Amino acid sequence: MKLSELGEFGLIDLIKENAVVDPTSLVVGIGDDAAVYVPERGKLELLTTDMLVEKVHFDLTTTSPWQLGYKAVAVNLSDIAAMGGKPCHIVVSLGLPEELPAEFVVNLYKGIKEICREFSVNLVGGDTVSSPLGLVINVTVAGEVEPARLLRRSGAKIGDLVVVTGSLGNSACGLDLLIRRGWEDYEYAWPLVTAHLTPRPQVAVGQNLATRGATSANDISDGLASEANELAKASGFGIKLYSDKIPLSPELIEGAALLGKRPLDYALYGGEDYQLVFTISPKQFACLPQSLGQFIVVGEVTEGEGVTLVEPNGRTKMLAPGGYNHFQ
Ligand code: ADP
Ligand code: MG
Repeated sequence: MKLSELGEFGLIDLIKENAVVDPTSLVVGIGDDAAVYVPERGKLELLTTDMLVEKVHFDLTTTSPWQLGYKAVAVNLSDIAAMGGKPCHIVVSLGLPEELPAEFVVNLYKGIKEICREFSVNLVGGDTVSSPLGLVINVTVAGEVEPARLLRRSGAKIGDLVVVTGSLGNSACGLDLLIRRGWEDYEYAWPLVTAHLTPRPQVAVGQNLATRGATSANDISDGLASEANELAKASGFGIKLYSDKIPLSPELIEGAALLGKRPLDYALYGGEDYQLVFTISPKQFACLPQSLGQFIVVGEVTEGEGVTLVEPNGRTKMLAPGGYNHFQ
């Protein structure tokens, strides 16, 4: 069926089904002029938004609508995770090309609702407009955080360790494999492509970092070089990263070899890994329970400014932010 046959209101009726996962704080969901929810007493409210534009952030030849819906929410939940919070409600705005089949939108929402179920998040509203020049999907998420669990980019102290929550570079390598095509033949390519298409935000880990001593945090959406620069700048110190400590998966090493690229470049300058990078004193780091997640020390906070990469032979170089910049 075409969208024009289903109509805006028929579409919203479909979207409404199973949109509420946790009704506890929700007063009014989809169907009124605005959603209404009761903020939890004593908590801080978090609000963030991210927009995905066809041909800039995704290509419909390499992603399914389900994966696109999942990812559009995942990238937003990752920002809440980086603040130490719990995501609660989302609104989704769509700019839809008229020729798009209604089935596409239904599958997009299946992906959206799947990740909402996984993280107990309610879909409480949105907006639907037509977009002649391609698909646009914007997600806004409202979350909450106890003041003691709030993580900011500022707060790193000299001597803190710089820690990441998982291997880096997989997503960017997965994207290159998708663009190159033919990746299905290589077993190692699957986890890379999956990391790119359906990233999992580190929400549970993020919620537990501040109370265990993390001093600053950021999610890794633009590559470690860029995110570490943001932490260094916001905290007013420098960061030293050790190239041989940056976690590279065996799949990334194979994928990069196939593509003739350096795996470390994917980790430093690729993007969309949606792991967390945080700082914490060595003493507190030693007390982090392994059960909470994977924690890999990749560097330390130093005097000075900017981010320095230290190579195994002792050579150093400054790392410019160098992630993906939309206006360069
Ligand atoms: P209004 O004209 O008052 O802005 P709409 O007719 O745009 O309201 O939307 C009706 C209801 O459907 C609202 O609750 C709105 O939040 C919801 N809604 C509209 N589009 C979407 C969408 N793409 N995803 C989720 N909810 C939506
Ligand atoms: Mg209205």
